[in-house]
Amino acid sequence: MDQNDWVTGELVLSINGEPLKIQMTVPAKPIKPHRMLPVLQKITNTFVEMSAVAAGGRGETVSCRQGCAACCRQPVPISEIEIYHLAELVEAMPEPRRSEIKDRFKAAVEHFESIGWFEKMNAIGNMTLTESKEKVSKMISEAGVEYFREGVPCPFLNVDEGSCGIHEHRPLACREYLVTSPAANCSAPSAESIRMVPLVMQPSHVVRYLGNTGRFAGFIPMIRALELVEAFPEKFEEKTGERWAADFFGKLTHQDIPKSGIQPKPQPF
Ligand code: SF4
Repeated sequence: MDQNDWVTGELVLSINGEPLKIQMTVPAKPIKPHRMLPVLQKITNTFVEMSAVAAGGRGETVSCRQGCAACCRQPVPISEIEIYHLAELVEAMPEPRRSEIKDRFKAAVEHFESIGWFEKMNAIGNMTLTESKEKVSKMISEAGVEYFREGVPCPFLNVDEGSCGIHEHRPLACREYLVTSPAANCSAPSAESIRMVPLVMQPSHVVRYLGNTGRFAGFIPMIRALELVEAFPEKFEEKTGERWAADFFGKLTHQDIPKSGIQPKPQPF
């Protein structure tokens, strides 16, 4: 892509009464929504850093450290656009890594199928219309603990080093997971023992709406990404990067922004 293929714009969000200026460069031509993920990942990093700084200001310390991968045995919720992004990442891996990762995805799915975990999650999802929000949240949290207790690592986890094999491309939910409770508590998490850093904004929730084709209802656990992509070939519509950005921020802030559009200023990443 040359310079004319990109457009740079700036918008200002008000976070807890403080202005946050965000500059982003997005493709000028129509693209599929998962091509926006590099931009959305950077924005998510910004919100997470702000949230960690705010926690520090309240005298709390983030206990997440490199090499601690306890949270990488939890069910990771991802969005429709992320499943296609992850599948492309896996397809681009050299052999034998690609086959190893695919085998791990398959084994993880088979394991949770065998214990009826997906069925349980579907049943909980169906309860959202009949049960209280509190009850459903509690059941989701308990199902998360049950998943964790199975000890199945994320297919991308380098278990020996405790490092993420796709760190730069990891899902938004992974970026947003920060705790201030003692690191030891993450080995036996429960709703009471884990203190999450409250986020100033949570893009992982909003990105579920971006380009949504309506083919996947509710919670998508990351381990299902490859099988879903195989069963449901990608069929996103295309929009300009500016339009996708407006959709994203509109949903994030519950209003149609940027109101005046992004001001053109070509500049590649
Ligand atoms: S993608 Fe990376 S950070 Fe996320 S759960 Fe897997 S190994 Fe952990």
